[in-house]
Order: sequence, then structure tokens, then C-alpha cells
Amino acid sequence: MAASADDYAIRTMALDGRARAFACITTGLVSELQRRHGLWPVATAALGRTASIAAMMGMMLKEQERLTVRVRGDGPLGAITVDTDSNGHVRGYVENPHVHLPATPTGKLDVGRAVGRGMLYVIRDMGLRDYYQGSCALQTGEIADDFTYYFAVSEQVPSAVGAGVLVDVDNKVLTAGGFLIQLLPGHVPEDADELERRLAKVGSVTKLLQEGVTPAGLLEQLVPGPTVLETRRLSFRCTCSRERLSGILRQLGAAEIEAMLREQGGAEVVCHFCSTVYRFTAEELQELLNGAGGGDHADSG
Ligand SMILES: [Zn+2]
Repeated sequence: MAASADDYAIRTMALDGRARAFACITTGLVSELQRRHGLWPVATAALGRTASIAAMMGMMLKEQERLTVRVRGDGPLGAITVDTDSNGHVRGYVENPHVHLPATPTGKLDVGRAVGRGMLYVIRDMGLRDYYQGSCALQTGEIADDFTYYFAVSEQVPSAVGAGVLVDVDNKVLTAGGFLIQLLPGHVPEDADELERRLAKVGSVTKLLQEGVTPAGLLEQLVPGPTVLETRRLSFRCTCSRERLSGILRQLGAAEIEAMLREQGGAEVVCHFCSTVYRFTAEELQELLNGAGGGDHADSG
């Protein structure tokens, strides 16, 4: 978590209240994701972009709400899942972290091909079993384009989304971050024109961040008159625990647990989100079994 101590996102109001804009720097967070999951470069870029956008969307959540975004393409990376809360905690993983593809003709990591075609899902958990789910078809698999399309189609909010991860030849994450701009009700056609003109002029987000431009500085170039309303620290955090994982084991049922005892003399459960390995001894499995057996008995009685 220390690695992402410098990461943060900002929320601003711009265009005299006719737009809201977010920007973030996530170099530490993306490095942490890379380290935990052993991500190869194209997986680092795909998961890092998704995590950066999710982190900014987290600033739209109310206290106690959670957000899960899932990019489910048919490319070699498999599904990308990122989960965030209203306090800047982010976690995520990609199904196949070890994917290598030739670079694009312009020398970029080929995230679009690694992700492939499929769907983007956004699930907002508002607590008390209240959910909002939106989705759209992936447009390019380059992530930011897909979110731009998602906001336009699924939430009917004209938006511009950018996210980038710069990975060095030795696989080190040099910089990562992004922006998210949304036009609000009351905006005029000229506002969209102005944003488009500025977006075209700015070019690469990662290049600017790499040069030391701050998230606020980035937004100053992208939108007229942004006022920072909130700054939030971002960090990697997983909500898994030994108790939660033993609950999952218990749900597998007595037969499964007995098989683990017989074949492995214990169990190893890995949390997808943070790659933490939880080991359960034969005695612990036996205890679970006693609990599970009792449960089965109660159910049948
Ligand atoms: Zn975990």
C-alpha cells in the first residue's frame, strides 16, 4: 500500500457547472496490481486503464456504496474485473495475466486485441440489496473508448474518457492515470465542440503525466475553468479475509471438503483480487466439515 501513497484522484466542476471532470494519477496502484498478479505488459495496461477509470467512477459513489466494473472480451486476457468503494480503495484482476502480443503498428501495447470483442458491465452496489447494473458492447477493447461509449449509451451522459499506462521495456510501470469528463444537463452544443477541440490538442495523457503535469493541470488543459471540489487518495485494498474464504470453502459442501482432506490433506485458497494464498490444515478442514455436516443435518431435518 505504501507504493500507491502518491496516487490520488480529483473531482472538479467546470464550464460554469455545465460539466464535471475527474482526473487521477495511479502509478503506484497499477504497480501494486502488477506486482501482486505478476502482470505482463499488455495485461498491466488493460487492468491499469480499467482500474484508473474505476477509481474516478468511485468518486461518484455515495458513502458505503461499491462499484464493480467487468470488461468481458473474447481476447486472450479473458475477463478484467475491478472493484472499488467510496473511499478510494481499488482492487482488481485479469483472468490471464501472462499474455504477450506484438505491438501495434504505432509501437503501442495492443490492448484492443488482448481484450477482444464482448461486453462492458458496470454494477453499482447501493447496499440493502439495491443494485444498479448497466452494460454496453465493447467498441475497441482499448478500455477508455469503451467507457466513453458506455456512458453515452447506458447512462445517456455525453462523456470523454482517457486512461493510460506507460510500461517501460523492463516491465516497470513508469506512469499511469486518466481523466473522465461529463457534460451535465444544461450544456450547450458549443461546450461539446470546445471539449473536442481541446481533447484533440492534448494528445497523450501518459506523456503529460510523465512530464510531471498534475491531474489538476491535465484538466486545466482539457476543460475550461475547472474548480477542484475534492481530492481523494487512492490505494490498493482487498476486502478478503480468512473468515470469508473459509465461508466459501464451507459452501462447497461436505463432499468437496472430504475430497480435499483425502487428496491433499488440506486446502489452499487463493483470493483472485489480491493473490493472497490462504492455507487450511487438515484439522481446520475437519472443523469446517463438522460445521458443514451439522448444517446439512439441520437442513434435512
Ligand atoms: Zn483478497
